[in-house]
Amino acid sequence: MSTSPRDVSVFGDGITYFKEAADILELDAGMRLILTHPARQIIFSIPFQRDTGEFEVFTGYRVQYSFARGAAKGGIRYHPGVTLDEVTALAFWMTWKCAVVDLPFGGAKGGVTCDPATLSMNELERITRRYAAELVEVVGPDKDVPAPDVNTTPQIMAWFMDTYSMHVRQNVPGVVTGKPLEIGGSRGRVEATGRGVTICALDQMAKMGLKPEQSSIAIQGFGNVGMYAAKLFAERGCKIVGISDVTGAYHNDKGIDVAAAMKYTAEHRSLEGFKGGDKISNGELLTASCDVLVPAALEKVFTAENAANVKAKLIVEGANGPTTPEAANIFRERGVIVIPDIMANAGGVTVSYFEWVQDRMGYFWKESEVNERLEDTLLENLHRIQDFAKQHNTTLRIAAYSIAIDRVVKALRLRGIYA
Ligand code: NAD
Repeated sequence: MSTSPRDVSVFGDGITYFKEAADILELDAGMRLILTHPARQIIFSIPFQRDTGEFEVFTGYRVQYSFARGAAKGGIRYHPGVTLDEVTALAFWMTWKCAVVDLPFGGAKGGVTCDPATLSMNELERITRRYAAELVEVVGPDKDVPAPDVNTTPQIMAWFMDTYSMHVRQNVPGVVTGKPLEIGGSRGRVEATGRGVTICALDQMAKMGLKPEQSSIAIQGFGNVGMYAAKLFAERGCKIVGISDVTGAYHNDKGIDVAAAMKYTAEHRSLEGFKGGDKISNGELLTASCDVLVPAALEKVFTAENAANVKAKLIVEGANGPTTPEAANIFRERGVIVIPDIMANAGGVTVSYFEWVQDRMGYFWKESEVNERLEDTLLENLHRIQDFAKQHNTTLRIAAYSIAIDRVVKALRLRGIYA
């Protein structure tokens, strides 16, 4: 019986990439052992009352993978598929992501196994406050700083920040990032991940001789990351030939009107019924003709089954973990360039870092300043990765892991192992 890629844990995919980079770095066995174990995993129950009066219990997670370079940092996901394995993998990736763009943070991730589509705003608020209350002792601006991820919003961050502040009896905006502007959020944070995807993509496209005005882009996922990436690609003159969300995909050779799709989603909560393109399946979107493909939904999208049929020349991973190691090998053999998640979607955590800095100073920057610093940070580190890949004849993914692991190892060696 063959093993489906979905049977292999998401954390397992991450470890495969880690090992390849560790070989390039000639990392010793002790460091490999330490770096492949999360520092702390927390699992707890979230009992809450439905609006109807009934009680239910969800499971909450927070994994603090590494503190070597600073406070742990990473988003909170609300999704029916959340498991300890997934949260651990995402916390593992956050460790390398923060290091790859040289932020003074470790890595973390959290989640609640729930389906937000079935929850009212009041129910979401109760779940979020209970989730935050469970973590009061282990989060904080110098301990662990959560942020939004799939299905979590600035409003949810506001409830988290308020609950934490009530418990510690002082206002602590820096306990989470991705907050609304009115309570210590940063200008540019909402668009930051999508903006980062676009910055990385356009730089790599230029190196591949792909002019924006002559390039076609397909994007899987039309949430925070996919939507703003689509908007910014379109502003740079690229043609968006396909978009999708959990309800299906929409294809238009002449180009999708991104502003209309954004308006439609705001009004209908999804793309279901959108008339700006022909409806195709999510699978068909991944193998549609286009120059650049941006997965911006969930993990394990590219597998041994579909990787050979992908027509894009460049894949820019807006999502975390969309490519299985088997698919990564196929892309490498076929010459499909992949900007890996830990670099391509690092725009979000970079502006989260700027938000944390601004909260600590109590002094807020103009949006142009945020965007300028974001572009500088991403391009400086992307260029390092591109150079490393060329030098070591490896992929951008393994180059990114190598640079990130090296930075974490240096911090760990300087601090020493407290035993
Ligand atoms: P979101 O909840 O705002 O949007 C997710 C989108 O994916 C929605 O449009 C949803 O309908 C769609 N989707 C879900 N399942 C799908 C499927 N099977 N096929 C097609 N579309 C599907 O979430 P987001 O914040 O945009 O996050 C998307 C990805 O980007 C995740 O992997 C997340 O970890 C990663 N990411 C997010 C941020 C951030 O700042 N929000 C930062 C870095 C990485």
